Amino acid sequence: MPIVEGHNMNIRLYDAHNHLQDARLAPHREAVLAAMQKEGVASMVVNGSCEEDWPEVLALARECPQVIPSFGYHPWYVKERSPDWQAALVRYLDTVPSAIGEIGLDRWIKDYDLVAQEEVFGWQLRLAAERNLPVSIHCLQAWGRLLELLRAGPCPRCGFLLHSFGGPSEVIAPLAELGGYFSVPGYFAHERKARQREAFRHVPPDRLLIETDAPDQLLPSERIQYPLTDPATGKAINHPANLGAVYRFVAELLDEPLEELAERVEQNYQRLFGTLARGS
Ligand SMILES: [Zn+2]
Repeated sequence: MPIVEGHNMNIRLYDAHNHLQDARLAPHREAVLAAMQKEGVASMVVNGSCEEDWPEVLALARECPQVIPSFGYHPWYVKERSPDWQAALVRYLDTVPSAIGEIGLDRWIKDYDLVAQEEVFGWQLRLAAERNLPVSIHCLQAWGRLLELLRAGPCPRCGFLLHSFGGPSEVIAPLAELGGYFSVPGYFAHERKARQREAFRHVPPDRLLIETDAPDQLLPSERIQYPLTDPATGKAINHPANLGAVYRFVAELLDEPLEELAERVEQNYQRLFGTLARGS
């Protein structure tokens, strides 16, 4: 992509996890893409979380060379899956070079069905391993079980992403050994997220990634560079071009010069997702 002089000068930014296809961002699409270009977003992984998302993710990938599409079933939506979901997922993966995600385990959400979650997660993890595709994993309050399932494997040889990693520090080393990468969202800049911030000091340098999870996981208001509102509800949402602001938060957190951090994150991103990148 052409290098555009923007707020971050020539630093290339990589968003390891967002939901650019989300309906809340659709009314802002043109302006959002222009702002991301201005900020120097070189590549992003756009995650579909259910069958309804997948056509939109595919359309974005075709429209925008910075988009690495990712297709998967998120644990929150497993109840909505159609009888045909596995065949549909395979069709999308066959259509365009893509990652698998967002998938995962979640014991935080109300009325979770862990049996269904594990079945859907396990099937997608095996598919990722068979095709050696990077996979984006969501995990809330299920770290012990996730580790068991990943240990039982198989895991993709290329590795996997623990997106918005909020687990205990003790699981970092075993997850890294299995091929785990760990991404920080801007949301962890909120004062009450001290435990999550501390955990990131234990992440191996070559396994750190950065994400917006836009339109979710807003930064604290004083750090928001691109304010945005969902016109349907009037609620504040996370603009994907806040990625630069997330980088600045992480540079402060790890006490590392922004340029060095950006270079490291670029290398890590390329190692995990680079074979799927086009146009960057
Ligand atoms: Zn997400």
